[in-house]
Amino acid sequence: MTATVRFAPSPTGMIHIGNARTALFNALFARQRGGSFVLRLDDTDVARSREEYAEAIIRDLEWLGITPDRIERQSKCFALYDAAAEKLKAAGLLYPCYETPDELERRRKRRRARGLPPAYDRAALKLSDEERAALEAEGRKPHWRFLLPNYETDPFETRRSEITWPDLCRGDQSVDLTSLSDPVLLREDGTYLYTLPSIVDDIDFGMTHVIRGEEHVANTAVQIAIFHALNATPPIFGHHNLLTTASGEGLSKRSGALSITALREVGYEPMSVASLAVLIGTSDAVEPMVDLDALTEHFDLSHVSRAPARFDPSDLSNLNARLLHHLPVESVADRLVTMGVASDKVSEFWEAVSGNLEKLADAVGWWRIISGQMQPVIAEEDREFLSKAAGLLPEEPWDGETWKTWTNAVKTATGRRGKGLFMPLRKALTGREHGPELARLLPLIGRQNTLDRLA
Ligand code: GLU
Repeated sequence: MTATVRFAPSPTGMIHIGNARTALFNALFARQRGGSFVLRLDDTDVARSREEYAEAIIRDLEWLGITPDRIERQSKCFALYDAAAEKLKAAGLLYPCYETPDELERRRKRRRARGLPPAYDRAALKLSDEERAALEAEGRKPHWRFLLPNYETDPFETRRSEITWPDLCRGDQSVDLTSLSDPVLLREDGTYLYTLPSIVDDIDFGMTHVIRGEEHVANTAVQIAIFHALNATPPIFGHHNLLTTASGEGLSKRSGALSITALREVGYEPMSVASLAVLIGTSDAVEPMVDLDALTEHFDLSHVSRAPARFDPSDLSNLNARLLHHLPVESVADRLVTMGVASDKVSEFWEAVSGNLEKLADAVGWWRIISGQMQPVIAEEDREFLSKAAGLLPEEPWDGETWKTWTNAVKTATGRRGKGLFMPLRKALTGREHGPELARLLPLIGRQNTLDRLA
């Protein structure tokens, strides 16, 4: 079966790595099946939704390598939601209620005190036309509830009514509707809660699968009932575990430091963010995948764990370093050249430094060292040794063997070995005590630069 899936964020903030997890799960799922991926912007909350966030979401997905096949906006679909609401009203499945939040709270307390579940008691269903008119004459406006199918003929005689679905991540799920409140679908100001628009769009856009975070499990039973009430076949659902911060708190669009935009700005590679977002909290090892094709092959929704997974930004540093070490030069050459690396040296340079970088931007520092924007570090007691070494420098052309040939000659001539031999050379040539293998750096530095640094 092919797949049409969606990622449905509200454009009310920056997406974080937990949102990216949902987006990637859907995108990879579609790629595995040659299906399509829809970005649905859930912008029914007109006051809180902002175009700049919508743009940031599209940019962040693009950076992760996800280009939606379609972009849809809920704010363009109100007519469809109204039509669905009318259909439910006509079927007697969406009914007006007039209770204020205070009244509802008092009722909940009374029911609890009597040992009853605190679900809404459907009192509004008993209102006559005159009573409704009287309430409206008082200035009250109705909110609208969906009548859950948890009864046989009399809505006041509820009975066990299980909604079941085979969840792609959690296995067989079952929720009993008996003790749930009829969900409010429309607020008294006429605005929609998330529930109905999501269903209408999932039907209208032909979603075959809905993959989302497990905070929606409870919604799913209700949504399945509404799909049926609208004579539609529900999609197949999958609810994945959530990510928390390192200290165990939920991620929120407000925790800006962990937003995808922030991770990009700090200089992480998209594939290390994507690899971590997908593989953390699964039974698979978190390995850096070099591109989305590799990640797609690796990804399996049924490997997702049940428990929440902690996201620690330090895991990302580690993974990023490992990824850079594996990345072929073709995937970074353009960026290295933009950073100033000479295009004819980019392959050699990448081979030399890729194992020593935490972030790609660190490469600039090594390029500066190679190309001469550096200060050699020379201790007084090493001056003579270094000038002897300069005298033994082989003629060019140089290759990967030059370092060995040269230092063997220096060793024989000076009697120095080990650290005493290599450290003064490293500090003179790079200005640092640690770094990439000198055998690789030396041909990049070149003979004249080397002579200048040893003097
Ligand atoms: N806008 C909803 C959210 O971000 C979408 C949930 C869904 O995927 O159905 O939670």
